[in-house]
Amino acid sequence: METLRKTPFDIDEYMRRVESFHGHAAPGVIIGGLMVRMAQIRIPEGVLFNAVCETLSCLPDAVQLLTPCTVGNGWLRVIDLGRFALSLYDKHHGNGFRVFIDPKNLDNWPEIKAWFLRLKPKTGQDHCRILSQIKAAGENLCGVHAVQVRPQLLERPEKGRIVICPSCGEPYPMKDGGICLACQGRSPYVIREYPERVV
Ligand code: ZN
Repeated sequence: METLRKTPFDIDEYMRRVESFHGHAAPGVIIGGLMVRMAQIRIPEGVLFNAVCETLSCLPDAVQLLTPCTVGNGWLRVIDLGRFALSLYDKHHGNGFRVFIDPKNLDNWPEIKAWFLRLKPKTGQDHCRILSQIKAAGENLCGVHAVQVRPQLLERPEKGRIVICPSCGEPYPMKDGGICLACQGRSPYVIREYPERVV
């Protein structure tokens, strides 16, 4: 990562990418970019890393924009603990760095503090001031420490056999039981329908 360390983080360019990927320049994804970078520059060059996000909000998009780790390729895991933190770690040995927003640092940036701690209703927040304070604060908002992830995270989850669900007729992992999880009541849909083809 020597090259990365020497390249300044172009936050304006990153903000444009966030707008296109996330839909708008959400403060959480912008701060997330700074957090990803803080972890990334600490990982030695040539080390293959995976990522963990501790919230579903915003941070997974920052990781997916700035690293090869995505939810789809399995190198990014979201463990939704509700904490605005992420870590990057050596995918073989599990040692890495965790970055979080340090509440001690928020007093210097009142607009970020109001947004982050939800002290004001969304309508009372000044989006431009939040973004300009994020730019001014940069890495000073965050804390970083070394971590070692649990060994379970280093193992590839066993996928096992795929069988056909006797209830809906679709393939599903046999380890889920006699019928698929959707047919066990976990379908997101209200109406259960299996049309031949919807045109
Ligand atoms: Zn089924």
